[in-house]
Amino acid sequence: MPKPPLLLAYAHPDDETFGSAGTAAHYAALGHPVYLICATRGEVGQISDPALATPETLGAVREAELRCAAEAMGVEEVIFLDYRDSGMVDTAPNADPRAFINIPAEEVITKLVGIIRRIRPAVIITFDPTGGYGHPDHLAIYRHTLAAFHAAANATQFPALGTPHQASRLFFAAITKSFFQAWGEEMQKVGVEAEQDDPIMEQMRQLGYEDDQIDLSLDVSEYLERKWTAFQCHRTQFSADDPMNRLYLAARRRLFTVEHYLLAYPPLDLGAKLTDLFEGLS
Ligand SMILES: [Zn+2]
Repeated sequence: MPKPPLLLAYAHPDDETFGSAGTAAHYAALGHPVYLICATRGEVGQISDPALATPETLGAVREAELRCAAEAMGVEEVIFLDYRDSGMVDTAPNADPRAFINIPAEEVITKLVGIIRRIRPAVIITFDPTGGYGHPDHLAIYRHTLAAFHAAANATQFPALGTPHQASRLFFAAITKSFFQAWGEEMQKVGVEAEQDDPIMEQMRQLGYEDDQIDLSLDVSEYLERKWTAFQCHRTQFSADDPMNRLYLAARRRLFTVEHYLLAYPPLDLGAKLTDLFEGLS
């Protein structure tokens, strides 16, 4: 009997690797078809080495990087929504009419409903309501995926897009405050102090969840090699001397073996915890 599909919905190439590479690899290895939606090609992200890309080619290069990571994770299909990276908050790319944040909700939700009704996932994962650190595209894919999760199940909405489908669960990928605590300690151990002053890291630390807010902590220690391969695919985002390299090698067992999720739908009994995304689902 085929295993039920898993659908991940993120905004940029590399979001999936930070939040869910171990999860994707785990369920792919168990035989679940894993699908990955990426809203943009990360066109205004970093270029770690000018030999790898120019601002004009970055989108195409990052598409290839994502396909490389998807292969490492065992993802069945990568689906681009074909919008443009909106850039960090209050930067010039926010104003580009092609930017993901400027696309009417109805248009994006229509695309997502069509994908959900085609793939018919049992479980969908997207960003949490903070978008990790408030990146405008992260907040947008969170908002639209939440809307599409419900709209796909509603026969009165988008009747031309196929048979309605109610996915059984919606999860938000979450980062804990204790992760940032451990991250900071390990960064110091490998000799990186500057990270403490990074405004994005500071914001993520503030927005992180308490351990007891987490509904599911998934042990992905068996998939650390695959996760590392996926990280290394995103070469434009990590230079060869990026502290992440040293950190991963020095502290991967402490920092990267568990991926955390909040259950957004349906509500969980108070105090209950899940041990598996598909727990209790046939
Ligand atoms: Zn991102």
